[in-house]
Amino acid sequence: MKDIVMTAETVMQQLGLGAADLTGGSIRVTSPIDGRVLGEVHETPLSEMAAVLDRAKSAFKIWRSVPAPRRGELIRLLGEELRASKEALGALVSWEAGKITSEGLGEVQEMIDICDFAVGLSRQLYGLTIASERPGHRMMETWHPAGPVGVISAFNFPVAVWSWNAALAIVCGDPVIWKPSEKTPLTALACQKIFERALARFGDAPDGLLQTLIGGADLGRTLVESEDVPIISATGSTRMGRAVAPIVAARFGKCILELGGNNAMIVGPSADLEMAVRAIVFSAVGTAGQRCTTLRRLIAHNSIKDELVARLKKAYAGLPIGNPLAEGTLIGPLVDEASGNAMTDALKSAKAEGGMVFGGARVSEGVPAGGVYMQPAIVEMPAQSATVKTETFAPILYVMGYDSFEEAVHIQNDVPQGLSSCVFTLNMREAEQFLSASGSDCGIANVNIGPSGAEIGGAFGGEKETGGGRESGSDAWKAYMRRQTNTVNYSAELPLAQGVKFDI
Ligand code: NAD
Repeated sequence: MKDIVMTAETVMQQLGLGAADLTGGSIRVTSPIDGRVLGEVHETPLSEMAAVLDRAKSAFKIWRSVPAPRRGELIRLLGEELRASKEALGALVSWEAGKITSEGLGEVQEMIDICDFAVGLSRQLYGLTIASERPGHRMMETWHPAGPVGVISAFNFPVAVWSWNAALAIVCGDPVIWKPSEKTPLTALACQKIFERALARFGDAPDGLLQTLIGGADLGRTLVESEDVPIISATGSTRMGRAVAPIVAARFGKCILELGGNNAMIVGPSADLEMAVRAIVFSAVGTAGQRCTTLRRLIAHNSIKDELVARLKKAYAGLPIGNPLAEGTLIGPLVDEASGNAMTDALKSAKAEGGMVFGGARVSEGVPAGGVYMQPAIVEMPAQSATVKTETFAPILYVMGYDSFEEAVHIQNDVPQGLSSCVFTLNMREAEQFLSASGSDCGIANVNIGPSGAEIGGAFGGEKETGGGRESGSDAWKAYMRRQTNTVNYSAELPLAQGVKFDI
């Protein structure tokens, strides 16, 4: 394996993180790779929240009136700055979140892609023209900026999730207050600096367009409770969403919730097994099983199940596990000790429920000391048990068999989560059935593609316990704006709708 060229210190320096950012704070950031301390970051005191909110409100008053295409120019510059910082930021994602090099870089590419998308969008915030029932009247719909957007993000996509929200919110005219995961504050501070470089080139943006708050759930809760933040976009566990959603609802704010997934693949008897195996391995073990869209359940037709499992076990046996920054590694560490323990516990429970476990042991040889490295596991289950229905954020793939396609779809849908799903089949009836109203109940449903690795052009999100939010492409931008219906009377009469007479 080739040596790692980008040290954590080098990339942090390149990204402009200095001693003031990295020393003397109360949040100790350690790398999942080897447990080394990357920095001691200062927490944002709760007492600063009032000033943060004031800055966001003042920024909104100015930014909402800047023409949207001009707002898009700021995001175009952000895209340029991200291009210039791609290698360093990608490497810092690896150091701080434990992703392999290409996935760290891929995350930054996703940020660049959403910037490009948002720039185009800044000239396409279209409303409708609607036929009025009254003569001499015109009806239309206008989309206006909504106000400061609170973004709460998870450790596993420490920077991309921010950019999905921020790029859209900013072109939509909304300032952003970001509370990243307390496990990944360094990449967040780096993004704030990258954004500030774009701001400096842009010239006349108001202060407070992006503010990054460093801290844990308590700080997140203050943001969620604030009446000054009409939109909360929260990405993380279903547990977090359950805490956040009622608070926002009680103050009639709007939530974009992107919560846990429990994603499945159905493999039909006609499937191209070679392709299916490649898709399964990437989506089940990529990012060490720590993607919201990770493949966690494999529902295979009983006629091909044994062959498929045999091929998977062969592929799993040769997977390179180790330092994510070393060339050739495909599986890096879990984020922390608690994640490793959660994986071990889930495997124990699955075994108690009749599962046959392959892999899943802790790896201690050929990996850096101080990280939590696990062999990915395949677990053949007799049925979809309680453990299978629970999202464990680790590389565990549960395998179940089926006989009829209806049974397969039932198993796929019979979990509390509804993020991503897919079918591998060459049978057009099965493919179309899967995508139909009586097919997959998820926000994402694919044919002959795994459930993870979505492109930014589509709306991203899921149903049921995944929270119902949509981010990124398609018309997800509408969640960051307020809709106004306008009726203009250009006649000399005042006819009432529905023919109502009210003569005075
Ligand atoms: P987490 O829920 O522990 O934390 C996520 C964020 O929420 C953090 O910033 C945390 O500080 C904050 N938070 C926690 N409790 C809060 C509260 N009561 N009020 C306000 N903020 C609070 O999640 P994690 O371990 O960082 O990430 C993994 C989880 O995120 C998995 O369940 C995964 O599926 C999910 N996820 C979902 C998506 C998606 O798009 N659906 C994307 C990435 C991750």
